[in-house]
Parts: sequence; structure tokens; C-alpha cells
Amino acid sequence: MYENVIIHDSTPSNSYPDLKKSVSEIRQKFCITEKIHILIKKDPKSGPYVRVENVELDPSKFNLHSIEAIVITEGILKNENFNPSTNEEELKAILAHEFSHISHKDLKLKGILKLGIFVLDAIVSTTLVCSLQYGRNLEVPFIEKLGLGIIFAILLVFISFRVYFNYNRELETRSDEEAYCKTKNREALKNAIIKINELGVRSVFWGILYFVAGNSHPSDEERLKHIDALKFD
Ligand SMILES: [Zn+2]
Repeated sequence: MYENVIIHDSTPSNSYPDLKKSVSEIRQKFCITEKIHILIKKDPKSGPYVRVENVELDPSKFNLHSIEAIVITEGILKNENFNPSTNEEELKAILAHEFSHISHKDLKLKGILKLGIFVLDAIVSTTLVCSLQYGRNLEVPFIEKLGLGIIFAILLVFISFRVYFNYNRELETRSDEEAYCKTKNREALKNAIIKINELGVRSVFWGILYFVAGNSHPSDEERLKHIDALKFD
């Protein structure tokens, strides 16, 4: 599924030489010395996206040591708007945004936050159901207590998503800022954001969740406005 792996930009690769050049340039701007994996995902079922993911390079083998990588789907690279040779600046802006996530270890931080929220939700929901069951208010039927507990647990999940998405929006804004700071190309970054979102696939599930819990990313409008306001003295 993953082909044409670029590791630390030193692995020989004949495909996408322009992409490799851009990766090298952006990596140097971030002064990252550790190995960075850039993977091209060749799966037609995957939508067009670029993001930092934990990847199992060989899913057939049981391996707990997945690697953190910037994954670029072929849906992006084959799109005329993101051709690595003709849209170099936009691609660099996207790479800089993702390198910002890597350099701040965002994926790990988000993983810890998600785990913390999950454990806290489980403890609070269980405590509530138990206190309703064994509390003083014994005349309420068990099924009603359980129903209340479930409603509370669902509410808690939405509140948790809201907290998590709020935090994620902060990280996205910071990555946009850093992408601009490193590439100094405001228009390329703005165009990249607009074009990526035009390609984005939206599902009903995420639509409902975003409606209730707030969006995981700032809106295009907010992002563009923020980038426009950035100044360097
Ligand atoms: Zn991002």
C-alpha cells in the first residue's frame, strides 16, 4: 500500500524527484536531524490528503513499533493542483505545515490527551451509574438510572470531543503560522489550504460530530484571515 518511501531524504527514489527536493528543503528549514518518513499512499480507497500518521509499514507482520510519517496520498500527487513540479510552492507550504506537527510531536501529545479523556470519561460514567444504583434515591427504577447514566456518558463524549477539537484547532493554527514563517510564501499557503479543502471528503458522521462538538480544524475563512494577519518585523 505504501510505496516510494522517502526516508530522511537520503533514500534513492526515482519517482517524484521534485517532491524529494521540496522535502529536503523544508526539513532543513526546520533543522530536523532525526529520520523523517514521507510515504506515498497508493490506495485508491483513501481520499486525497496529507497528514502525519502512525503507520505500520508491513501490516501482515505483528509489529508494535509503528512509525510516525507524513503520509501523502496519490490522490494529492496526481491532482493537477498539487503537481510536485508545477505547484512546488503550494506543496512546500503543506509540507511545512506537516513538519511543524512533527517537530512539536503533536501526534504523541494528541494520543496522550485522547487516552486521558477516555480514561476520565470511563471513570466518571461508571461512578455516576454506580452512585445512581447504590445511592439513596432507591425508588427510581434501575432502567431509568441506567438510561440517565447512558445519556450522561454520551454527553460526556461530546464534551470531550469539544475539548479535544479545541486543542487541535490551536495546533493547526500554530502549524499554519510556522508554515508561513518557514516558507515566507503567504499566497502559496493560502492557495494550498483552499485547494486541499476543495478536495476533502466529508462524511455524514463527521458532519454531525462537527456540528455538535465544533470542528477539529479552524474554518478556511479563519485560517486565511489568520495567515493574512501574520507579520514579521
Ligand atoms: Zn495540520
